[in-house]
Amino acid sequence: MNSLYIHWPFCPYKCHFCPFVAYAQHDQFMAQYHRALCKEIVEVAAQMAQPIDIQTIYFGGGTPSTYPNELLLDTFGTLRNVLSLDGVQEITIEVNPGTVDREKMAFWRTLGINRMSIGVQSLKDKALVQLNRLQAAQDVRNAIAQAQGIFDNVSIDLILGLPGVSAADFKEQLREIVQWPIAHISMYFLMVHEFTPLYYRVQKKEVQLPCDDELVQLYCWAVNFMAEHGFKQYEISSFARQGYASLHNQAYWQRKPYRGFGVGAWSFDGTRRFRNRKNLMLYMQTMEQGGNVIDFSEELTEQQAALERIMLGLRQTRGIALSMLYEQVDARRHVQLNEHLAYCIQQGLVKSADGQIWLTPAGLAVEQDVIAYLA
Ligand code: SF4
Repeated sequence: MNSLYIHWPFCPYKCHFCPFVAYAQHDQFMAQYHRALCKEIVEVAAQMAQPIDIQTIYFGGGTPSTYPNELLLDTFGTLRNVLSLDGVQEITIEVNPGTVDREKMAFWRTLGINRMSIGVQSLKDKALVQLNRLQAAQDVRNAIAQAQGIFDNVSIDLILGLPGVSAADFKEQLREIVQWPIAHISMYFLMVHEFTPLYYRVQKKEVQLPCDDELVQLYCWAVNFMAEHGFKQYEISSFARQGYASLHNQAYWQRKPYRGFGVGAWSFDGTRRFRNRKNLMLYMQTMEQGGNVIDFSEELTEQQAALERIMLGLRQTRGIALSMLYEQVDARRHVQLNEHLAYCIQQGLVKSADGQIWLTPAGLAVEQDVIAYLA
């Protein structure tokens, strides 16, 4: 096991597009949740047969920047008591603008946290408020300024395709963002997840989403623009200055084992994926009563694992060995695969050389379609 994920589900508001296990107006349960979380860490560590070399830790959410200092200190105490953190290279905390100040950042550094991931999403306050994300662009700018001299490894998240943010707005904000003292940008397409408030508003046609072609064009523009300003793409959504690619996220894409703690957290042990209960109250209750919080588990077949390796490999700009694709396909269908590959190359979606294959920015923008077509 190389990586730990720790889920903090509390948020100051619930964004209308959010598919995560996240709760607003539940702060009164923070201390109780923290106890359950630490109990889970201790119990899992006790079951491990051999000492584990942890390389990355990721505090995700939710809004981990609302984790009270004294409780977070206790979590680190628990981690250090039961696991060896000597080899840890990267500890990330997700931050929401407006929930952090310089003092808190300095405290995090004393704990060993060395990377902040700030959920910017957009600098268009009006568009965010429409989606119940109650943050202000000024809070983002303040957080970036306050991080200077404390964190050299700051990442920001952006969403592409938010209703109310035009292509011109998006370009304008990216022109500002590349000037900031940050090391990493994650740029995601807006996903409309079932049963979120945004989903129902789209169904009722109350919200107009940008068209796919326009978004693909904007994505390709952004990839080039960020490269020109020193942020090199290494995965569909990830752009980093030299030396600042996220170690934790790369561990996911390389299918390295990781352990997740907390409500709804996923884990992977090399062959099996499993997930904790997704309901906050049930998670806490189960932990308190000494029960098993894992309520979903799936053993991957060799074929599923191979397909996963292809999908995760093609998310990354370095791509995969071409032979991985051929191994997936019955020899009688190699001719068809060659035709599909040639078509994707001709459309400018895929490139291939020296036995490797990788997706171009246009291919990455429609990655799932390309993979379905090829694999
Ligand atoms: S801040 Fe993040 S986790 Fe919380 S509701 Fe919004 S999108 Fe979800």
